[in-house]
Amino acid sequence: MDFFENMPKIELHAHLNGSLKMDSIRELGLQLYGENSSDFLKRIQEFTTFPEDMDADKLSKCFQKFAFMHELTSSRKGLQLATQMVIRDFARDNVIYLELRTTPKNNEHMTRREYLETILEAIQASRESYGEIIVKLLISIDRSQGVDAAEEIVNLAIEMKSQYPTIVRGMDLSGNPAKGHFKDFLPSLEKAKKADLHLALHCAEIDNEEEAQEMLDFQFDRCGHGTYLTLKQMEQCKEQNITIECCLTSNVKCGTVKDYDMHHFKRLHDNGIRSVICTDDCGVFDSTLSQEFAIASTVFSLKKNNIHDLCKNAIAAAFCDDVEKTDLRQRIDKYFADNTE
Ligand SMILES: [Zn+2]
Repeated sequence: MDFFENMPKIELHAHLNGSLKMDSIRELGLQLYGENSSDFLKRIQEFTTFPEDMDADKLSKCFQKFAFMHELTSSRKGLQLATQMVIRDFARDNVIYLELRTTPKNNEHMTRREYLETILEAIQASRESYGEIIVKLLISIDRSQGVDAAEEIVNLAIEMKSQYPTIVRGMDLSGNPAKGHFKDFLPSLEKAKKADLHLALHCAEIDNEEEAQEMLDFQFDRCGHGTYLTLKQMEQCKEQNITIECCLTSNVKCGTVKDYDMHHFKRLHDNGIRSVICTDDCGVFDSTLSQEFAIASTVFSLKKNNIHDLCKNAIAAAFCDDVEKTDLRQRIDKYFADNTE
């Protein structure tokens, strides 16, 4: 485990609201509500509890859990603190490059624009405190919120990209995969593509071959999960240079994959389809990127050169510029050169 903890790592699939560690949620709650919030302390317990009994509705229960985090980050102060803590937690796990993603929300405290500005300011400020970690932002469209919201979000993303060109790098399509239709979001995603925003879309998270095919034919950069991709579709990913973001613990805990050894990572790895290891929501699923690498290494009997390849895959698929990629490559290669045993 030490090997993975010390390894400089790249995280490409992390949702801001789900990535706050348990201790940080507590810290955030205390800062926002004060020490006497017993109701709050009781509720955080529920946040990371996953009942053993499997049921068909496990995935939708996972989505309910996020509502709690969204409440904590519904004020500018909460959101700013949460962003800083998430970056700190990844930096503590020796993540040297992080792509955070989030859906801009509007509520009584903030507009969608203010939501994004708060996060972007927190990311900029984190350079002072955690200079070792490079942080980018992907702006998400929540497929359950409909096309009007999607259109507004894409326009905002294009605007934010021009204001923060080194931080705002791409867009994501996420949210409950059982809701909404990919086709409806095509015009918005097309617009994002034309504006040179990279696309990392949740795809084939549930069994819907037709939709997965529509998405692949549309062409995008990275596929979140890809759990139900057919072998033919995986081959198409290879041809189109699409990298698959594998989130082992997230898939097992949400029940879209039965067990670690059943995970489609094996199929991707065996067939030479480029994949990366990510956490998805390391706070909700109580994991770290180091832990995910350790699990992958044990379950799939990966050797050090396989782990090194996974890191190289992540550099190739990262939405950063070539100077940053060279720097990441040097740091990671050095680690593997220094730790051959
Ligand atoms: Zn995700």
